[in-house]
Amino acid sequence: MELVEVREGLARILVPKAERIYDAPVFYNPVMALNRDVSVLALRVLKPEKALDALSATGIRGIRYLLESPVEEVWLNDISREAFELIVKNLSLNLGSEGEIVGEKRVVFKGEKKAFANLDDANRLMAEKFRYFDFLDLDPFGSPVEFLDTALRSVKRRGVLALTATDTGVLCGAYRHACLRKYLAEPIRGELCHEASLRILIGTAVRYAAKYDLGFEVLLAYYRDHYFRAFLKLRSGAKKADRSLARLGYLWQEEDGRFTYEEGFLPEKPNAFGPLWLGSLKSPEFVEGLERELKSLEPAHKKTLTFLRTLMDELDVPFHYDTHALARKNSLEVRKISEVVEGLRELGYSATRTHFSPTAIKTDAPFEEVLEALKKD
Ligand code: SAM
Repeated sequence: MELVEVREGLARILVPKAERIYDAPVFYNPVMALNRDVSVLALRVLKPEKALDALSATGIRGIRYLLESPVEEVWLNDISREAFELIVKNLSLNLGSEGEIVGEKRVVFKGEKKAFANLDDANRLMAEKFRYFDFLDLDPFGSPVEFLDTALRSVKRRGVLALTATDTGVLCGAYRHACLRKYLAEPIRGELCHEASLRILIGTAVRYAAKYDLGFEVLLAYYRDHYFRAFLKLRSGAKKADRSLARLGYLWQEEDGRFTYEEGFLPEKPNAFGPLWLGSLKSPEFVEGLERELKSLEPAHKKTLTFLRTLMDELDVPFHYDTHALARKNSLEVRKISEVVEGLRELGYSATRTHFSPTAIKTDAPFEEVLEALKKD
């Protein structure tokens, strides 16, 4: 495998030379740098002692956690031997030591911090490490669901689970049956699909966690560059699990773009989408912490800062109105999005832009008021 060196954050990483990212023998996607940047900031805020990068590929994520956050011990695991060997190389390069071989499938690096390169099925490693990790990161190809159960047993009962899902086609309803199979949820198509997808993903994690008497607080969940990301803080106890389950519900949408949602274990009306999470998508304290950490870095990463700002300013209510979709569905000519937001605010409603779409707004205004505010004079 021909390797080239790339730099990201404080890490120097050898990655396979390849024409297209999916042709490479070990996976590396530079577009995911923002995902890793935000995750590094999350570790700086949360200060976990032990972290797992369960699906590590080149090791870039776990190595950045080691170099850029106060974490004390990181496990970098992959099922592919080529990935494992590259993780060992990259750890040596960044930690400046050789590592000690522990059997055929494990190399440990002992210094100020401990790092383990591990060759195994993530599910087997997580089963071995029961209630061990304070922070557990699942960053798979596609859906994280096949790892969710073991992850919920491997993370501590007050730990944090970080999930990435890249199966947007499944969650957004292009492959409805796959969504029914993997997430046991009915997906919605159209302008609400990305937010609904994120809420289906979280809703699935809530249902998986409930049987262990675990609930969640969503520290931050977002959609970006065709992936979904959620940082979920576990809350231990039957009542906490009940409380999280109670935030699941369903979404309905009509032809003109009007939507309604309702909490409930089962849908009360036909044509429901879900079940999905109807609770909050962020903890303002956590997002402020991320921003504070980012600003303390030199130089602060502008793209990440802009993104965090959008997340921070966004009204935290379920679902949004896409002005272009509403214009199409209601044969309207619409004003500029900033004027729509202003108009609704002048009427006393809350309204903001949303990271889910550059043409959408979140608001607590009723549908008719939104339509009025949209119309060009
Ligand atoms: N986290 C990496 C990053 O930030 O660059 C990217 C991970 S890549 C999307 C997914 C990785 O999961 C691949 O390297 C693949 O070999 C590995 N993988 C797939 N199935 C696995 C399993 N059951 N156990 C462990 N690793 C697995």
